Amino acid sequence: MNKVITVIFSLALFTGCHPPEKVELLATTSVLADAARQILPESVEVTALMQSNIDPHSYKPVESDVAKLQNAKIILHNGLHLEGKMTDILEKMGQNKPVYAMSSSLRLPDLIETGANSYDPHIWFDLNLWARCVEQLGGFLALQYPEHTNEINKRTVVYVNNLRQEHTRFATLLMKVPDSLRAMVTAHDAFSYFGRAYEIDVRGLQGVSTAAEFGVRDMRATAEFILQRGLHTVFAETSVNPKSIEALQEAVAQKGGAVRIGLPLYSDALGNEGTKEATLIGAFRYNALQILTSFE
Ligand SMILES: [Zn+2]
Repeated sequence: MNKVITVIFSLALFTGCHPPEKVELLATTSVLADAARQILPESVEVTALMQSNIDPHSYKPVESDVAKLQNAKIILHNGLHLEGKMTDILEKMGQNKPVYAMSSSLRLPDLIETGANSYDPHIWFDLNLWARCVEQLGGFLALQYPEHTNEINKRTVVYVNNLRQEHTRFATLLMKVPDSLRAMVTAHDAFSYFGRAYEIDVRGLQGVSTAAEFGVRDMRATAEFILQRGLHTVFAETSVNPKSIEALQEAVAQKGGAVRIGLPLYSDALGNEGTKEATLIGAFRYNALQILTSFE
């Protein structure tokens, strides 16, 4: 009888008490997780802390996230305050384990300044710039996983080439678009590097961080821009509340114009797992198609 009770008790303990979840490489956003997955062998598990549709600017880690951060062997984040509410915890984690910022491979002249000592964090949609970040990430991961160095090096070369080819493919498609049509409006300023790389005049209704408020003046100025450039499409974003872009559509209508809301672009988060847009190149192609169509 005693034996039976002991077994039941042990079972209850076993099922009621979850052992800490082991996390190999934890990336803050889906964009970063994709970069790591592209260059690591499949046997190294990569976990994204934020799922698709999550806005990294306003993301506050919950208790289970803190446990994941604590249990991770390596942490990968974007840096440049993309993960604005995680700065302290990332710093703290960096005292005990490798915490790698993807933006650390860029130099000041590569960055778009947004204020005194602050820089736009949305570096991934300039695929040439991102290819450089990926190259450096490959070097870092090859050191972390010496048993996989050869494979990581090989995969990095292939992926960096894919990113550069995709950059050239889009730039070539854009050559057919006259300068006067190259303009777009999005919900927040996530496409400045993209605009710089592909020579598109980009305006975001909200600032570089979705945490910033936008006012009547921003709304009016953006509506003016839409009318001046003759845009017939504005873009919501999958990780941003569409209300702001709907209000912008209304502001344009009040000025006697008309603008439609295009399919939401992927900006700070990639698509759901299992879709083509779950990779950066897939999301980039989807965005490129929406943007090219809006120029027609
Ligand atoms: Zn953003």
